[in-house]
Amino acid sequence: MIQAILKNANIKRILWVAAAILIIICGMIAALKNIGNGDDTESLPKSQLSTEQSTEATLPPIDKTQWNLILVNKWNKLPDHYDVKVTYLDNGHAIDERAYPDLMNMLNDCRGEGLEPLICSSYRTMEKQQELFSNKINEYLSYGYSQEQAEQKAGELVAIPGTSEHQLGLALDIVDISYQILDEKQENTDVQKWLMNNSYKYGFILRYPTDKSSITGISYEPWHYRYVGKEAAKKIYESQICLEEYLDS
Ligand code: ZN
Repeated sequence: MIQAILKNANIKRILWVAAAILIIICGMIAALKNIGNGDDTESLPKSQLSTEQSTEATLPPIDKTQWNLILVNKWNKLPDHYDVKVTYLDNGHAIDERAYPDLMNMLNDCRGEGLEPLICSSYRTMEKQQELFSNKINEYLSYGYSQEQAEQKAGELVAIPGTSEHQLGLALDIVDISYQILDEKQENTDVQKWLMNNSYKYGFILRYPTDKSSITGISYEPWHYRYVGKEAAKKIYESQICLEEYLDS
């Protein structure tokens, strides 16, 4: 009888120990699960990131043939037989008719701030660009330079015909009426300050920033604006990149 009770007590003890082990194991499993949850919480941004990545991956690549994104520089000539419909402004200057409404809005808002922007160059035909280039060569010839030197010098200041953005009908040189000289001091005028900070809202970019000359091939021109459309202009402005970098991104 006593033996049976002892045996019973042993069984009870074993059962208690087993129960305790079970509780400990359950506790460990719960703790591990909690760690897992913590990781999930931590990994929330990761899952967002992967969503972003997948969104990015699904973004269509930039269509470089879009009319507003055509790249013209010394390495990329104007497409052959490029034809553009332009709209003339009151002052005789012209711009691609598709960029005209945004230009008007930009100039109106700039004037609304009490400023006086003045367009001094806009759309150029191949003939016009050739004329500007030849005039510059002749100027250097008159200083006594050789033909070769004069052509080289002219090429540093005037784009070789076929390589000027002005031939696209999407570029404008805009100055402040109070300072109409095309030099670096133009950046200090109120018109340039406003344009540099606001033109992207209308689809225009400062095309030749001072720190991008090696990529654009053109030295700093704080008066030359190029229409690229609002989406590209915003990205270029916010990322502080130039058109070449945007098209390569
Ligand atoms: Zn220009």
